[in-house]
Amino acid sequence: MNNSIRHVLGISGGKDSAALAVYMKRNYPQLDIEYYFCDTGKELEDTYTLIKNLESFLGKKVTYLEAAKDSNKDPFDHYFNLFGGYLPSPTARWCTKKLKIEPFEKFVGDTPVISYVGIRGDENREGYISTKPNIQSIFPFRQNIWSVDIIAKVLANTNIPFLSKQYQQRVSEERLPRFISVIEEPITVEFTKEQKLKALLNLDTVTFNHITFEFLKSTSYPLANVHNFPLLDNEDIYKMEDVVELLRETVGMPNYYTKLPFKTESENGMYARSRSGCYFCFFQQRIEWIWLYEQHPDLFNSAVKYENEKAGFTWNQHESLTDLIQPNRMEQIKSEYLKRTKNEKPKSNKLLDILPKLDDEGCTACFV
Ligand code: SF4
Repeated sequence: MNNSIRHVLGISGGKDSAALAVYMKRNYPQLDIEYYFCDTGKELEDTYTLIKNLESFLGKKVTYLEAAKDSNKDPFDHYFNLFGGYLPSPTARWCTKKLKIEPFEKFVGDTPVISYVGIRGDENREGYISTKPNIQSIFPFRQNIWSVDIIAKVLANTNIPFLSKQYQQRVSEERLPRFISVIEEPITVEFTKEQKLKALLNLDTVTFNHITFEFLKSTSYPLANVHNFPLLDNEDIYKMEDVVELLRETVGMPNYYTKLPFKTESENGMYARSRSGCYFCFFQQRIEWIWLYEQHPDLFNSAVKYENEKAGFTWNQHESLTDLIQPNRMEQIKSEYLKRTKNEKPKSNKLLDILPKLDDEGCTACFV
């Protein structure tokens, strides 16, 4: 393995990146992976516990990256002041840029880097693709380990002659016609890039990976600098249940995923937090705000203070946190949540079935 490229893996505090760290240590111990965590200063205590558990399992330290390290405030507060008390929101996400992406890009500098990202095989979202050409993302939990930009280049219609030649060299005469019929069909509205990719991966994932690796040699992507890459032979696909199982048997699931009982006037229910990240993250659902209020009142009060700093700025659209915890409103949110989740009753007592329901909103820098 060429030492001039670095291998890095970001721990977000969520289950998927933690599981990926465990997976890489178990399956690819020959890779000298650097683990990092972008600390906003506003994480839940459970996140720091998870990182400690991971450090013992991995036998190495997770590097804490802090934006505005020389500031006397913690990273979030430093930028919150700099932006004049303007709270971040889904449409103005200065926090992700300043607290996650910029510290990460500074950490890797200009060295070619492979960044391993824990997006699962049962998810339909892409990871953060750096605009820096020296950072290449790899997705070991998916059948397609490559990022969208690479797939677009490999499968470009202009690249058909290259693919055709490569498959002719690597696939037996008997199997070749099946491959050639897929390769030579150009991408069109009727036969999309995604369909072509799926067809090639389903025919033979490992061969597709080796050909993509060969293609990269003619580019400036980081993997052009190495002679071999063990993940080319990876055929694993990790889904939610695999991730949960892996964490259960090693470092444990972060505690905030554990569902706890709550009451309404007429019913009982269960709630939890569904993702990692800052305790006041604006991506959380209203029921999670109530979870924060009831389970971590000190943190909830701190979130309220941010709203009070500037009139009109709230974490949620159209509703302040003070309004959200009025008794009638809490009752309404809890009842609506129960109604919405009624048909999602646990099928078993397996951890997978009692996890809070996750949605795909959010960003991969904070919630993998
Ligand atoms: S967790 Fe939420 S609030 Fe924190 S940096 Fe990420 S998007 Fe911003």
